[in-house]
Amino acid sequence: MRCPSCGVENQESLKLCGKCGSQLVTPARRAAVVRARDAWIAKLIDLSRRNKLLFFRDLKTGTMDLSQCDPKVLDGLLQGESVTLSSLLPHADEVSTSARANEIRKTALANLEERGLATLFITCGFATWPAKDGGRPAESPVILAPVAMEKRGREGRGLTLRLVGELQINPVLLFSLEREHGLRMTPEALLEAKGAAGDEPLIDPTVVYARLQKNGAGVNGFRVSPRSVLGNFAYQKMAMVKDLQDNLDQLAMHDLVAAIAGDPGARGTLRSAGSGESPREPLHRLIDSGTKEAVEQRMWRCGDG
Ligand SMILES: [Zn+2]
Repeated sequence: MRCPSCGVENQESLKLCGKCGSQLVTPARRAAVVRARDAWIAKLIDLSRRNKLLFFRDLKTGTMDLSQCDPKVLDGLLQGESVTLSSLLPHADEVSTSARANEIRKTALANLEERGLATLFITCGFATWPAKDGGRPAESPVILAPVAMEKRGREGRGLTLRLVGELQINPVLLFSLEREHGLRMTPEALLEAKGAAGDEPLIDPTVVYARLQKNGAGVNGFRVSPRSVLGNFAYQKMAMVKDLQDNLDQLAMHDLVAAIAGDPGARGTLRSAGSGESPREPLHRLIDSGTKEAVEQRMWRCGDG
């Protein structure tokens, strides 16, 4: 058996690595954890048409199309300048535009206060490709620029926008392209500064569009268009998905995780360790009583403990 920590081959009968002492994982246990992990990922990520980060649709009040924006002002915003909404959309009707922007701002504030989520983004670029079921095709934002929108001026009618974090690639887009079409792309490769020598952040979205278009060339009908939109988007669960994808070895070594995944050896280990006043005991009862949902929820909360 190969040690997941140091890579050394060990005899099948050993429970701990002869070299580094790490717990060894049988192929059966690993396979059980892979199955469980994939089921958890599928539960966490919604690839249906309800997901706005995959199947975007303009809303009457919840989103603001920026196709008519001044591209220089948008560039300035992406480079960190604070810009007014009226300079970003110089040709738009000021009253209706600020009313709509205020609705979006209220939703963003509510998400932050009630759910602790920062959801206000300007999305740059859309990727689209035909759906396998023949229905509405994917319309997936490419770049997510986290922004803050603040009221300015005496009457608080003027609104300003500024960037409050780094540009990100929509993780749902990357996940879906990998799952559906086997396309593997990292956000780093897409966002890397052109001919980069240092850590200069990328500021030209068109470079990202060109890279994505090139990578997606093998997908029939794949197209990237440059439209930008302001709205609220939530994708915080993707952080958990990434953890599940990146940490298979740790998951397989973890007795509680392997027990939830159904590995008999790990269940036995937990049962024998959990007698008496062990704080883990309630978890065993849950496992034994088969309430997997409850155990999974507890697991999310207890992290790697
Ligand atoms: Zn080892």
